[in-house]
Amino acid sequence: MSKIGFIGLGIMGGPMSAHLVAAGHDVSGYDVGADALARLVDQGGHGATGVADAVDGAEIVITMLPNHPQVEEVVLGDGGVLDTAKRGTLLIDMSTIRPETSVAVAQAAQDNGIRVLDAPVSGGEAGAKQAALSIMVGGEAADFAAAQPIFDVLGKTIVHVGPHGAGQVVKAANQLLVGGIYGLVGEAIVLMEASGVDAGIGLDVLAGGLAANRILDLKRESMVARQFQPGFRIDLHHKDMGIALAAARQADVALPLTGLVAQLVASARAMGHGSLDHSALLKVTEELSGRAQKEG
Ligand code: NAD
Repeated sequence: MSKIGFIGLGIMGGPMSAHLVAAGHDVSGYDVGADALARLVDQGGHGATGVADAVDGAEIVITMLPNHPQVEEVVLGDGGVLDTAKRGTLLIDMSTIRPETSVAVAQAAQDNGIRVLDAPVSGGEAGAKQAALSIMVGGEAADFAAAQPIFDVLGKTIVHVGPHGAGQVVKAANQLLVGGIYGLVGEAIVLMEASGVDAGIGLDVLAGGLAANRILDLKRESMVARQFQPGFRIDLHHKDMGIALAAARQADVALPLTGLVAQLVASARAMGHGSLDHSALLKVTEELSGRAQKEG
């Protein structure tokens, strides 16, 4: 069993850290939010007073933070993980951030003798609660092997996808695909309804053909019913489309459809739908078509 420092105990980090406690690990957690910290203590973890306290004596440090500024502050900042963790510690950043930040963190950590993996996840809050996350991991193969017992507690599909930053690139690819598919399912619904076709029946047929996909399977009924409780919020997807575009720029490629989807997500947010599920991209197409509807 390992001594683990866990920083960022929110929607995802909360249940993930609880699974590690339940698996018998010695988990010392830290979050700027008092409620998140209290939840970990209730579940048998130690509540740390700050980053340095959480990583004190840890063999493994896990970060699950909102975005790159928080990762930079917690890991690279004064009194951060690199300043305070012992040499040989394995830092696993499971936040979704830009690939270039993951690479920069890994380079900076090398000087301190700290090993780093980027290991963003897919599967949402339900996946975190059920320990069924997909985990895409970038970094050295030996470090991936060392982290495998930890990943096994948290997820079901766990793949080493390449060097530092590769996990974030795969996650960015996931988010651009998911955003694009939501946008197109929304357009299919608007087209069918405006043409007098029952969209629910139409999507049932499509879900059995070449256009079949998981989003059609899981979300077509709630989208047709205009139920947009999150799930995964538009605000977070907006962040992730920014990451996808930053990754494209870094890789010197043009991703025109990703650019368009990013604008649609930004538009959903500007319309005040940031706290709705990302399937609410449908509302943008409705607005553009002069067919705005009330939520179901
Ligand atoms: P969240 O906002 O619920 O949790 C982040 C936690 O970090 C919060 O509790 C916050 O208080 C804490 N925090 C922020 N700054 C801190 C600091 N400086 N020091 C200590 N704690 C700090 O977010 P989440 O939904 O748990 O997402 C975390 C990451 O996982 C994000 O990068 C997100 O994109 C990604 N992700 C989320 C989901 C999802 O469905 N929610 C799915 C896959 C991936």
